[in-house]
Amino acid sequence: MYRAGHLGMALIWTLPALLLGYLTAGVAATILLSVTAVAVASLPDWDQRIPIVSHRGFSHTIWFAGLITAITTAGALTFWPQIASLLFEHEPYPETVQSLATIQPQIAAGLIGSTVLLSLLSHIFADSLTVGSGKYGIQPVWPLSRRELRFGYCRADSTVWNYGLLLTGSLLYGLFLWILVN
Ligand SMILES: [Zn+2]
Repeated sequence: MYRAGHLGMALIWTLPALLLGYLTAGVAATILLSVTAVAVASLPDWDQRIPIVSHRGFSHTIWFAGLITAITTAGALTFWPQIASLLFEHEPYPETVQSLATIQPQIAAGLIGSTVLLSLLSHIFADSLTVGSGKYGIQPVWPLSRRELRFGYCRADSTVWNYGLLLTGSLLYGLFLWILVN
């Protein structure tokens, strides 16, 4: 799947984490988490920029998703107060944004970690919808097993699927935000 498709799928998959963010820290947290979801949605495809690793290899496994989740969770747990204060505690910002700096590091880490995990798992799932197999197959538990997760509904470059997912994800996200603020 291409970037557009991954973005849409990440917005769909992370809705539970975004709702949790809203319930614990308000709409600013929801928006922050959705930015996080979008930011990491295509991270596994950065493997194409590294010449020595194969595309759809380790970066498309649950281990990679777990590793990045562990790193971001630990980072948030350690540095949240400093980072949040630097980014959000500014006078012209509305109170909802500034209040992000008051979220407990444990809560921020839990919310960010679950968003990152869901977004990365959605990447693996979206790619498994494509016809890619063998060299381009999705092997989520490699190297434990080479078993492929493959639904084979579309080609990775399918315009209909990529933009269909982007549209579906955007509409659901928009509806979700609309419900939250109304
Ligand atoms: Zn991919």
